[in-house]
Amino acid sequence: MPPDARGDPSRRGGLAMSVCETPVRQLFVVVEHETARMRMRLVPVRYGRERLAAVNAGVGITPLEALGDGDHRPLTEVYHVFRRLELGDAASGGDPLAAAFSAWTEVLGRSGIDVRLERRALYGAPLPHTEWWANAGGISVRPWDVELTALAEGLRRIVKLDRVPPGLIDRLRHTAAQRGLRVEVVAPRAAVPEVTDAAGSVTLLVARDASALVEARGLEALLLAGGGASGATATTLQMGELLGYPRCCVERFARMAEQNDTTLAWALLPGVPHAPAPPLTQWLQPGLALPSHSPCDLHCAASIALGARVLDALEASQNGFAVGWRSLAARVQVVDHRGNRLALAVDGRLEAGATITAADVLASASVDPNATTRAQGLVGRTVRPESGGLVIADGGWHAPYVADHRGQH
Ligand SMILES: [Zn+2]
Repeated sequence: MPPDARGDPSRRGGLAMSVCETPVRQLFVVVEHETARMRMRLVPVRYGRERLAAVNAGVGITPLEALGDGDHRPLTEVYHVFRRLELGDAASGGDPLAAAFSAWTEVLGRSGIDVRLERRALYGAPLPHTEWWANAGGISVRPWDVELTALAEGLRRIVKLDRVPPGLIDRLRHTAAQRGLRVEVVAPRAAVPEVTDAAGSVTLLVARDASALVEARGLEALLLAGGGASGATATTLQMGELLGYPRCCVERFARMAEQNDTTLAWALLPGVPHAPAPPLTQWLQPGLALPSHSPCDLHCAASIALGARVLDALEASQNGFAVGWRSLAARVQVVDHRGNRLALAVDGRLEAGATITAADVLASASVDPNATTRAQGLVGRTVRPESGGLVIADGGWHAPYVADHRGQH
């Protein structure tokens, strides 16, 4: 179980070099062999930062999540088959994705593996990792210590903070001591080779009582040691319980191929148009998120209940917080093709073509110093859904990652 701050530490750093103005597509598919099923993506190879399981002729495949309870080992064949496909001529034609999908489906069929197209989607650069403690500019409504508030409220037994830089450790200890909380430093995650941690950064566990710390330390050691899949799932579920995350969400999380923001977003965001979800389950924008986990569904009842209690606690300590938070959170949340995170207020149903009435930059990509000006340019324009994402009618802007949080609550 990763810490409260979601994301993959190996994905830190600047955005992809190239910014594509014209929307490109990816395919979501389900591969199936007997009772084993797996969701995957077929993507154009555009951004060097996307980790792909197999690549062939400019198209890559990458797993999203395991479905079903069968033995998934036979499904590893899908990667070998993909690498061996002879795509040279087909892929150089009109639609490399379609050509790869068709050839792959045909060859897998001979091994008794079915491939079903789930949907086409807009493709976007991987989401940059955001540190929970870093102020990346833009708007962050979520208090930095929201997890400690939830802990004090009894909504969770443990707070786990990864990659805490040395300069913040004393501040955290001080804040925790003021609230009667215990802090423990656990070993840096030096065992993970791709993690290029800031020098001296550590993982901290915070709890109200010593027994929770002991339990969390034991689970953390098991998680770092790795081990068998079934054991790892059980440990993840126990850690999830200590963290106060709903069981349904932890179970889905445990099935993810990779526990980084990009995989979670593609797996958990249904694409627009979808029934507007309540703002309480908003997690795409870290600066507005009330839950510390990624809800299994934007309508997850347990996450809505938890979010409501966190919101009450924040309102109790900061009168007026809820109104300010809701004014930004109850919107259409997007990460656009440049990597800018925007909260869009829109007038009308998306599927009918809706007018953007406000566009606030929550965080901007490092490559885009003009994010605010660009966002202002979106006001008054018409957006409509396109392959699960959003586009504006006359082009020049699109958003591959979208979550509609204009629902009730
Ligand atoms: Zn859930």
